[in-house]
Amino acid sequence: MSDCIFCKIAAGQIPSDKILETDDLLAFRDINPQAPVHVLIIPKKHIASAMDLAASDAGLLAKLLEGAQQIARQHRLDATGFRLVTNHGAQAGQSVFHLHFHLLGGRSMRWPPG
Ligand code: 5GP
Ligand code: ZN
Repeated sequence: MSDCIFCKIAAGQIPSDKILETDDLLAFRDINPQAPVHVLIIPKKHIASAMDLAASDAGLLAKLLEGAQQIARQHRLDATGFRLVTNHGAQAGQSVFHLHFHLLGGRSMRWPPG
């Protein structure tokens, strides 16, 4: 999508602090981190949100989750804990309409989230 900021990051047209890249996904540090580790994991293919995932995206979704596992291990968060979240729509505060998982860790988290 030509006017999507995360498509531009995936295409390398906008710089990002990359953590992991494969043919299908990119993970990079959030520009406004909410925890010591705050990484965004996105598919390179444009999908607006979790509501636009289809059964045919099952393999892609598994790869995104495997990417999250790899990044969690790299940062030793598998031992201490982390949160993996995706926002959909206004009440959840979605601000970028390209599917992304936030991987947050490195501090204690409250539940329920605000
Ligand atoms: P959302 O609110 O849609 O769940 O999350 C969007 C996230 O993208 C926010 O945490 C925001 O800080 C991050 N973000 C927005 N624009 C950029 C950018 O240009 N680069 C990076 N690295 N993160 C961004
Ligand atoms: Zn996009």
